[in-house]
Amino acid sequence: MTILTPNSPTAELQALDAAHHMHPFTHGAGLRGKGARVITRAEGCWLTDSDGNRILDGMAGLWCVNIGYGREELAEAAARQMRELPFYNTFFQTTHVPAINLAARLAELAPGDLNHVFFAGSGSEANDTNLRLVRTYWHEKGQPERQVVISRWNAYHGSSVGSGSLGGMKGMHAQGGMPIPGIAHIDQPDWWSAGGDQSPEDFGLAMAKQLEDKILEIGPDKVAAFIAEPVQGAGGVIVPPETYWPEISRIVKEYGILLIADEVICGFGRTGNWFGSQTMGITPDIMTIAKGLSSGYQPIGGSILSGEVARVISDTEFNHGYTYSGHPVACAVALENLRILDEEGIVTRVREDTGPYLKNKFESLADHPLVGEAKIVGMMGSIALTPEKAARAPFAAEAGTVGLITRERCFANNLVMRHVGDRMIISPPLVISKEEIDILIERAWESLDEAHAQLERDGLM
Ligand code: PMP
Repeated sequence: MTILTPNSPTAELQALDAAHHMHPFTHGAGLRGKGARVITRAEGCWLTDSDGNRILDGMAGLWCVNIGYGREELAEAAARQMRELPFYNTFFQTTHVPAINLAARLAELAPGDLNHVFFAGSGSEANDTNLRLVRTYWHEKGQPERQVVISRWNAYHGSSVGSGSLGGMKGMHAQGGMPIPGIAHIDQPDWWSAGGDQSPEDFGLAMAKQLEDKILEIGPDKVAAFIAEPVQGAGGVIVPPETYWPEISRIVKEYGILLIADEVICGFGRTGNWFGSQTMGITPDIMTIAKGLSSGYQPIGGSILSGEVARVISDTEFNHGYTYSGHPVACAVALENLRILDEEGIVTRVREDTGPYLKNKFESLADHPLVGEAKIVGMMGSIALTPEKAARAPFAAEAGTVGLITRERCFANNLVMRHVGDRMIISPPLVISKEEIDILIERAWESLDEAHAQLERDGLM
């Protein structure tokens, strides 16, 4: 069989891809008709495809390449570790140096007394761990009836059966028997779409109040935990009104339930602090981490537990773990990634310099006739597309139609911007420069102009 290379012709790569490769979250037949875009190389914030196009990656891969592409140090760390100890497990009372160092470093970086790490291979696995962890915690505390985890509609917490059930994506729930029992959902604090006549502040309180209502409906002695992202990412980069998190924090405290902050996207500098919990003023009992932990260079995730949760769990044998929990190569790469984020001042730069610069430019997109609101925290932002700003009106076409048209225009202009329904999203590498931010905004504006013209031509607005 011929092994193709990055220099093979695009048509050949696409044909072999279509013949054997099943893509995640993709309509297979639809993709086969047009052929996948083949990315062959990347450097900094720029991707190269098999036709030689240079594309500005406004999404940092899948919200993960925080330090940018092409860092030799991470390749070196991986090679070094592969030579020294390519694999050993952390089951059965063994450990190894990379897992020891990474857990200790994470305990140092994480806020408050979050100081123990249970490693996983991904964010999905880590949230599966969390589901079992919180139920085991309450069992050990003598309250085994505390089983229910409350989450939010439209949340994304992963794609395995457990984490997909924790998430609130109805399209996912419709396939394969999700959600599993013991999970309940409340609404997301999306003022733009659902706030009606309420002020954002009142709406934030009302959405938080849903948590209290749900706890009372289920019975406070049956609820184990609430899970949420500090800023919801894949649900549309929903920045909550300022009243939301303080009220949620009050409620979880009042009813004594555990708070799980899913930091898979928000963690490792994305919001201008090491963790989104710090930006939003939250004190979680457990944090889910993945993505930016290794800047996507290796698959790794985990759960960071508070001293108290770790102590209770340690009183029993937790019958849970993955072959790749604390994989030595992934840990070594993550540790090197954290060193770079820290020593190069990347998180501070996002908070104090490039983040504010991007915010200023990004918010100016709200002046475009197609854009309602533009919201951004650190380096995760979204714009709401609308035919009528003042009314915050949705398009008549099926939700997502206009978002998809706009995404295609961005792609044609060599900018990766994702759409969630009719919101457009950015989450660039944290190392993006001011010059590159200017290019991103220029291309976004141009793509919006083109989408606008197309919508008018097609009678969609
Ligand atoms: N939680 C959040 C908030 C995520 O955004 C994601 C992935 N997009 C996950 C969990 C799942 O992570 P993974 O894809 O690594 O399993």
